[in-house]
Amino acid sequence: MSKVLIIAEHHEGVLNSATAKCVTAAQALSPESIDIVVLAEAPDEVARQASTIAGVSRVLTVANAANAQAIAQTLAPQIAKLAAGYTHVFGPSTTFGKDLMPCVAALLGVAQVSDVMEVESSHVFKRPIYAGNAIITVEAPAADTVVATIRTASWSEAAQGGDAPVEAVSVDGSLPEHTRFIGLAGASSDRPDLQSAKRVVSGGRGVGSKENFKIVYEFADKLGAAVGASRAAVDAGYCANEMQVGQTGKIISPELYVAIGISGAIQHLTGIKDAGTIVAINKDGDAPIFEVADIGLVGDLFQILPELEAAL
Ligand code: FAD
Repeated sequence: MSKVLIIAEHHEGVLNSATAKCVTAAQALSPESIDIVVLAEAPDEVARQASTIAGVSRVLTVANAANAQAIAQTLAPQIAKLAAGYTHVFGPSTTFGKDLMPCVAALLGVAQVSDVMEVESSHVFKRPIYAGNAIITVEAPAADTVVATIRTASWSEAAQGGDAPVEAVSVDGSLPEHTRFIGLAGASSDRPDLQSAKRVVSGGRGVGSKENFKIVYEFADKLGAAVGASRAAVDAGYCANEMQVGQTGKIISPELYVAIGISGAIQHLTGIKDAGTIVAINKDGDAPIFEVADIGLVGDLFQILPELEAAL
């Protein structure tokens, strides 16, 4: 029977919803147990949130000042030690997980299974390749611990209502000091996080300039949505890099996705394959985005957006 350890992703005391998606993926294994581990300087509040996820057996906490920042080189040796006794170690396929889990896999001497979108059996998984244009079935060696990243867009969050016990654990041994936290330079925003938001409004090259992007932000705020962008918009300097949606940006699965002035290139569509309702606003009625859109508005975005905003 499988025993799964899930690495909690969290920031500033808030558990990322990607963790509950990993729980859903773990449940597909019909495992004997699912534990979540919270590595932090002060893990109690995050552990409390993790304990309410239904289906979780135990929440383990590793309190250590060295865990104040999510540095893969610091966290990975601790996780590798905790992995003893587990058949599977899961982390989300987010920036956090993509940084951390390969280090864990390397320390355990196994090959990582990346971007799990479906569980076929305890060691057989499906994952996308070629920018999501093909699905490959991969098998991990039966004797190995399975270290995997979970494609968050493919799994819904496990339900709330759990009441798992929280246990503090310690991990022996000194931690590497060759990688140290110096500072974090990130865009601070009051808007929802792009990767976990239920609504996302994205702007493309059609928005025309950095100044014009204001209209996208205002519309997003009306909807309580996160803001994304196409690569062309990012490359043109209309908005920040971390807003890019797509093959080389973020893979997202909001309930509502609004694409404004975006043509619908395959590399962009890869990022929104799992979105619920897709709304496209484009002045070109033949734009490929309309092939995937549930609702299409053909017209000038500078005319349509103020009208929509007024209606909202
Ligand atoms: P365009 O294709 O130029 O489309 C702009 C659209 O705006 C047009 O359809 C036009 O009709 C419309 N428009 C213009 N003015 C208005 C107006 N006033 N009102 C309404 N509509 C208007 N792209 C991504 O987005 N994400 C990725 O991760 C990504 N990764 C890539 C990786 C690789 C290896 C490569 C080769 C490419 C990648 N791309 C990615 C780029 C991708 O191929 C496209 O070039 C890009 O998505 C186009 O962005 P766009 O739709 O904003 O621009």
